[in-house]
Amino acid sequence: MQVSRARRVLRVSSLLAVAIATAAGAATAGEGGTSRPDVILYVVDTLRADSLGCYGARGIRTPAFDRLAAEGARFPRAYAASSWTRTSVASLVTGLDPIAHGVHGRDDLLGPTIPVLTDGFRAAGYTTAFLVTNPNVGSAFGFGRAFDELLEPYARRAPGVVDSSELAVRSAEATRLALAWLARTPRPRFLAVLVIDPHEPYQPQDPPRALFAGCDRAAADGSLAGIARAARGGDADFEAIRALYRATVEDTDASFGALVESLRAAGTLDDTVVAVTADHGQELWDHGNHGHGRTLFEESIRVPLVIRYPPRVSPGQVLGRLARGVDVLPTLLDLARIGVPAVDGHSLAAALEGTPGRGQSVGSADDVAYASLDFEGRSLLAVIGYPWKLIRDRVDGGEVFGDLAVDPAGRMRWVPRTSTPDVRVAHERLVALAERYLAREPAPRTRVPAGAVEPAIRDRLRALGYAQ
Ligand SMILES: [Zn+2]
Repeated sequence: MQVSRARRVLRVSSLLAVAIATAAGAATAGEGGTSRPDVILYVVDTLRADSLGCYGARGIRTPAFDRLAAEGARFPRAYAASSWTRTSVASLVTGLDPIAHGVHGRDDLLGPTIPVLTDGFRAAGYTTAFLVTNPNVGSAFGFGRAFDELLEPYARRAPGVVDSSELAVRSAEATRLALAWLARTPRPRFLAVLVIDPHEPYQPQDPPRALFAGCDRAAADGSLAGIARAARGGDADFEAIRALYRATVEDTDASFGALVESLRAAGTLDDTVVAVTADHGQELWDHGNHGHGRTLFEESIRVPLVIRYPPRVSPGQVLGRLARGVDVLPTLLDLARIGVPAVDGHSLAAALEGTPGRGQSVGSADDVAYASLDFEGRSLLAVIGYPWKLIRDRVDGGEVFGDLAVDPAGRMRWVPRTSTPDVRVAHERLVALAERYLAREPAPRTRVPAGAVEPAIRDRLRALGYAQ
């Protein structure tokens, strides 16, 4: 079933490949030899790093993402800026830590005065677009101003439908729309795509029924109600939901593969910077809960980051330095030879090219990642200075501190401060970094005006589990 689905998508893609090649040729001829690469940023909503084969996952097939990693570079220690969509995507678009862009809660939008890095592409002559299937980062919340075009296929859906596949735009459809946009848009182009298949409710195209043996199938339907039922069940129910999640990741891989193979067939792939990352991960009862936007444990914030661009990135690299959501746009701008303004993120291009560059040594300022969550009554800050990780709860003052080298899954037990001098020094360093972060001037928050979110968008948000 998986294979036939992939072939189906590829057939549609191959029809568009000729059109893309034609558009690419016409644009290159008109640029007087100053051609720039296309840039595609593929963001998978709710994709845990450890759910991809190239990140060590077993029992899941992700050949397209794995091939991208084999042909490009992979960062095994990449962190999102938050564990929920709007905060994290705001950091991707701005290169700013959450405290500096002010997008935290359900009612916050990307404020009109916050600089966006996509302007760098526009100034360099790119046409920019965001194909977005999660309305949390659509036009209703201020993200339209960061792009020339915002493609929001969910907005065409009928209002009044909640929690059903009728509201879901799957990644296969996103691939079709992305290829159509590329076919009609002259180079150079920056296209960000955000697909949402691994976000609950889980609606894989071919539910993995064989994996449901020994559990209550009725509870394993992947709907929000089904997940809630599974949460009251036991390990077999958890495993059924995890199987559904993995199936949605496989769907996404097939759709992403169709997009990439279409570019390869058109002969434009090697002249395209392709990056894959996620806005956050997903709790699958690792710490007793399901979902995201609740904690900053590893399963919630450790994401994939894979970048392919043969002219400057030699294949098969695995880069051990920390990479952050705020680094993604600076890196993509740099790979396109566009200047990067001063933001919290830094370009990873030097690391990708294998040349010594700023921030590659462990212990430098660049080797620290922050993630924060000020959402639904929670206020958490995580600081990672590998291998150490600190999470501070700003509501109750609680704190966990752990060593990811000995606890890669980040189960994060309390570490007695008196254990060893090394641990004390590491702990003090991260506490100081946390306090420095929190001492920064917070960006003003811009609230969504009352009544500004259309009923159709509110329905879509409800379908994703966000009470509105
Ligand atoms: Zn998300």
